[in-house]
Amino acid sequence: NAGGGSAGGAGETGGNSSAAGESASGGGDKGLVGIAMPTKSSERWVADGDNMKKEFEALGYSVDLQYAEDVVENQVSQIENMITKGAKVLVIASIDGESLTDVLDKAAQQNISVIAYDRLIKKTEHVSYYATFDNFKVGVLQASYIEQKLGLKEGKGPFNIELFAGSPDDNNAYFFFDGAMSVLKPYIDSGKLVVKSGQTSMEQVATLRWDGATAQARMDNLLSAFYADANVDAVLSPYDGISIGIISSLKGVGYGSGDKKMPVITGQDAELASIKSIIAGEQTSTIFKDTRELAKKAVAMAEAVLQGKEAEVNDTETYDNGVKVVPSYLLEPVSVDATNYKEVLVDSGYYTEDQLK
Ligand code: BGC
Repeated sequence: NAGGGSAGGAGETGGNSSAAGESASGGGDKGLVGIAMPTKSSERWVADGDNMKKEFEALGYSVDLQYAEDVVENQVSQIENMITKGAKVLVIASIDGESLTDVLDKAAQQNISVIAYDRLIKKTEHVSYYATFDNFKVGVLQASYIEQKLGLKEGKGPFNIELFAGSPDDNNAYFFFDGAMSVLKPYIDSGKLVVKSGQTSMEQVATLRWDGATAQARMDNLLSAFYADANVDAVLSPYDGISIGIISSLKGVGYGSGDKKMPVITGQDAELASIKSIIAGEQTSTIFKDTRELAKKAVAMAEAVLQGKEAEVNDTETYDNGVKVVPSYLLEPVSVDATNYKEVLVDSGYYTEDQLK
């Protein structure tokens, strides 16, 4: 149960869950690996960290796994610490992709290699590889789900939609949003989708640090300003934690009861609360990204770098970080809703049936 099992609660992650997120372990003689993760507030990063730790330890490395609770300065000092402790390689899922330039200069001076994990690290030449998912496709899948649920291809509409995007300091947020807009924009232009708020640019719809409460507050405002006598039919949400905030807001004004139908609401990460929400008929869909597979890719990249070999990549043109195009491996995201969650999440062992009750 390498995926969601450990994600069931941060409390179960043993040594990883002290307040400071401190977790050094292993004692393997192949050397120390530093893993810097953004936050424990989202299950996926707990699973990512646990999965990598397991994989590295099985290969004989010791691991320093740290979580920065979405505070950039914490992450920088955690990485500094890893450098001081003599880490041989760093695997980093950044909070702010543009804030690690200086600390990675220090890493480079000690010949420490860096793997960007899930999120691109920008403005530095000191990143060897990037392990991630096809982030543009994530957005395409989210928007295609809305397109299909509303019957837009069949000419139905017009429908009201509101748009949410992720954190503006996370490169992924732009890829998700651009992917989604590649599907939605033609319908917005033709009037089949109406954004009553008029908020359609990344700057207008971004959600700093992917914060659910921030999204909930924005949705409250949208509903009171633009939907006093109209219904929202769909909400593009980039991440499950944001979806849950949006759903709370909608419920607060009566959606989901009587004749006020819940809109189509997307998400990402297949977090437990969202799968339960999908089963309950509230959130409509999410995107599953198998963190077990991503962990394996990142570990393989780290091993290759340490052995002076080339790692396997499948994309060498998409991820320009401002200094170089970082060779990448893109995994496939999968769209999940009430019709296929069992097959995708339970049959694959990511979650147990019991966790979804
Ligand atoms: C990740 C998503 C995640 C989001 C918020 C993004 O960088 O790719 O999987 O939903 O951050 O944690």
